[in-house]
Amino acid sequence: MDSASSKTPSTTPPPRALATEAVHAGRDDLAALGLHAPPIDLSTTYPSYDSRGEAQRIDAFATTGARLDGPPVYARLDNPTTARFETALARLEGTASAVAFASGMAALTAVLLARASMGLRHVVAVRPLYGCSDHLLGAGLLGTEVTWTDPAGISDAIRPDTGLVIVETPANPTLAEVDIRAVAHSCGSVPLLVDNTFATPVLQRPVEHGARIVLHSATKYLGGHGDVMGGVVACDEEFAARLRQVRFATGGVLHPMAGYLLLRGLATLPVRFRAASASAAELSRRLSADPRIARVHYPELGGAMVSFEVYGDPHRVIAAVRLITPAVSLGSVDSLIQHPASISHRIVDEGDRQASGVGDRLLRMSVGLEDVEDLWADLCQALSSEEPVRQVVSARPARTGAGTAPDSRRPAGR
Ligand SMILES: *Cc1c(COP(=O)(O)O)cnc(C)c1O
Repeated sequence: MDSASSKTPSTTPPPRALATEAVHAGRDDLAALGLHAPPIDLSTTYPSYDSRGEAQRIDAFATTGARLDGPPVYARLDNPTTARFETALARLEGTASAVAFASGMAALTAVLLARASMGLRHVVAVRPLYGCSDHLLGAGLLGTEVTWTDPAGISDAIRPDTGLVIVETPANPTLAEVDIRAVAHSCGSVPLLVDNTFATPVLQRPVEHGARIVLHSATKYLGGHGDVMGGVVACDEEFAARLRQVRFATGGVLHPMAGYLLLRGLATLPVRFRAASASAAELSRRLSADPRIARVHYPELGGAMVSFEVYGDPHRVIAAVRLITPAVSLGSVDSLIQHPASISHRIVDEGDRQASGVGDRLLRMSVGLEDVEDLWADLCQALSSEEPVRQVVSARPARTGAGTAPDSRRPAGR
């Protein structure tokens, strides 16, 4: 990567605690503006009577990718509300900059395009990754070539045209962990991207361990309420400038309303995440002691996700939950459960899925903010359920087995 960084002002944040940054970062100017809540700027265009001045600003953006001084010209270049979220997330991750996108996948796409535009199309990646990330890398949609390896194989897999190494830790959906510092060492001068969606900056800040690029599906914990989709990349200003150019050219911008909701979500992120993590740790302890469960996956790092393998039919558990919502995604205030082999990782080739530990009996639960006793009661009744399928009003055919499935007649428990 090249020169632009020398012009970048140092943005090392003052030493404020994460919980303080979460509620103040991106809002520092509000009191002086006479405001308390951040304003939402929905403009798609910005008037200017000075076209010569605009031409210069556009040239500056096109050559450096640095943020414009003054209004954005057009909403595909930048947005002040979204910029507040970017500022705040960069502070939480301890990076100079962050660039927000319409979704986590739009963010990953921009990273891959930014590297490919430098002639670096080869990616080294460690499975498992989120199913669609795996698909984007492997399907060749962006002309990316991927070498899959384990953490120990990274340095051998790196080639002269390798532009990126990608890991997810804890990984979706097995919660497998990689040692970021060791992996960063193996990467040498190739940038390491860590998908930090599952840990959030509350648990881990990958740049402190040598990662160059941190990716989030902001749809998950950052938003935190299951009602906003977004993605964000936290990184140094040099790479951020490149990402802004890609975002401008390809259009995967975050809507300002989503930027507002994500900034609002960050304020409660530490409190939400710690509360949900405490419940997840307790559920993982109880599941580990439960004879109906073959194996529990819970990260040493902690977190609010628990995955587990059942002896019985996983589809029946999904069909039987009452309080927990049977749905893909994670990081909402309410608890969600899904069957990765059917949904989140369906798009991954079955052999690759199995080989990376995503077996057919694995269930992934995103623990929310309900009382842990109520969650446990719901899980227990679902695990014991002999009712094969709940009647669900849906236009789609149910994936789960019908009441005639052979093992529905066996007692599900013990
Ligand atoms: C959901 C998810 C993504 C993709 O994010 P979207 O916002 O759904 O596009 C990427 N990585 C991980 C770990 C995820 O869980």
